[in-house]
Amino acid sequence: MSGRERPARHAKFLTSNNFFSVETKYIFVTGGVVSSLGKGIISSSLARLLLSRGYKVTIQKFDPYINIDPGTLNPYEHGECYVTVDGHEADLDLGHYERFTNTQTTRANNVTTGRIYQSVIDKERRGDYLGKTVQIIPHITDEIKRNVKLLGNTGKFDFVITEIGGTVGDIESTPYLEAVRQLRWELGKNALCVHLTYVPYLKAAKELKTKPTQHSVKMLQQVGIQPDVLVLRTEKDVPPGMRRKVAQFCNVEPEAVIQSIDASTIYQVPLMMHDQQLDQIVLRKMGLQPEGEPDLGAWNTFLQKLTDAKEEVRIGLVGKYVELQDAYKSINESLFQAAVYCDRRLKLESIHSEKITPGNVAEKLKGLDGVVVAPGFGQRGIEGKFTALKWCRENDIPTFGICLGMQCMVIEFARNVLGFEDANSTEMDTKTTHNVIDLMEEQKSISNLGGTMRLGAYKCVLKPESKAAKAYGTTEISERHRHRFEFNEDYRDRFEEAGMKCVGENPETHLVEVVELPEKRWYVGTQYHPEYQSTVLNPNPLFLDFMRAAIKYGEEREQKA
Ligand code: GLN
Repeated sequence: MSGRERPARHAKFLTSNNFFSVETKYIFVTGGVVSSLGKGIISSSLARLLLSRGYKVTIQKFDPYINIDPGTLNPYEHGECYVTVDGHEADLDLGHYERFTNTQTTRANNVTTGRIYQSVIDKERRGDYLGKTVQIIPHITDEIKRNVKLLGNTGKFDFVITEIGGTVGDIESTPYLEAVRQLRWELGKNALCVHLTYVPYLKAAKELKTKPTQHSVKMLQQVGIQPDVLVLRTEKDVPPGMRRKVAQFCNVEPEAVIQSIDASTIYQVPLMMHDQQLDQIVLRKMGLQPEGEPDLGAWNTFLQKLTDAKEEVRIGLVGKYVELQDAYKSINESLFQAAVYCDRRLKLESIHSEKITPGNVAEKLKGLDGVVVAPGFGQRGIEGKFTALKWCRENDIPTFGICLGMQCMVIEFARNVLGFEDANSTEMDTKTTHNVIDLMEEQKSISNLGGTMRLGAYKCVLKPESKAAKAYGTTEISERHRHRFEFNEDYRDRFEEAGMKCVGENPETHLVEVVELPEKRWYVGTQYHPEYQSTVLNPNPLFLDFMRAAIKYGEEREQKA
């Protein structure tokens, strides 16, 4: 994924002896006032700028909750669960990191309080602490510090950006902030703290208010951290005078108080940060001389395409969490990227699968150029997905089924084409006589829910004549997974004879990874999640192909009308 980046250039650090040495620099991103300000986007934007200057950068997220990972959290709690190439169920911010940086993350890029405590408790049981009383300080904070430095110690990165989840003042964040305080002391110029706060606009007073920012910085100072850079999230322009006031009250240099005003797209944020010289300020503060300008050529091309795109493409997303903005984050972003590369503006219509019935399906899916059926777990909303898929198949709408969406394609086809009325996945109905989707063999003995699915990247071999192979331009691909159930091999021949082709499979286990209806415009289901591997600079080929098919279908309809 990082193939298109410029070659690595280690940070040249001017030491007191005027010798150049190679040292990893650590940037900490904290947040104050309220959550959901977009620390992930600010971290990603800064990483994008440093990468575009030729540095090697990685971003990691430290989440202050007790869960070992977000894999067991439902989307209402925590939005989408992202999956890394090495099979870690991760915070959705890692998706932003990859989409912005075009660089893969791994398990090491996302650590939770649960993981920290688990590791400390394991060490205690092994006797590693030699009879000492194990305490939050120093044992938990030392474990946090060790984890912060893990990626830096590989020698692969010039910069490690660490986003601290939560908000300053949260009880849960305290050990992380103490670790950051200690690290800043130990690392000197090689550590820097960017603090993101909120500047609310009070409508009644017609005024922006900086007091919450001042309080938030005070809280940070109380735990011994002086922020080097302040990023003010705001809906309205914060005038220079007000920024100077913030600088004065918070002991931050005036030019290091930057605003992050609402943008029409998150992908604009790196440019907005660069306009205010965030990258130059960070480099200078860390003892580096910013040379020239970041190479944002391909990034700007993408944004220019977005600006130039006038026509819409209407895609429907059928799922049971569509009311949650973050539940299908990576799918939304993949569709957005694909649309931009096809010179269109994405008009994404969320369709709640629980509300789809045979009586209203035509109305609900009317006018769409393409339909995506979302991943998911459990029975709720599943019948609506079958109904939507039947309608899409019969009306030959470009349709993309992802993970559970692909499984639903298989079940719907079994019920309505093969005539297996009670066909189902054993996830939904353990007693079905036609278990066309069944639990994978290796899953049968597993009882723990956390981290036990088929997770991460697996190879897939595609049939050369398939739509998928043509889309990827190759027959050998690797995509990421997150599932327990699979296409039941016993039924493969019957599906193939009736027209649903198994066009992609795992080369070792022969698990079916991709199904297609070749005689349709575009009816493709993937057991894997292509949305985890779509970035701004490297959009996923299958999403691009789906988008092209949807646009073509839209144009055909227009011509007929
Ligand atoms: N629930 C299905 C399974 O476990 C699909 C999972 C998903 O869509 N990610 O196989």
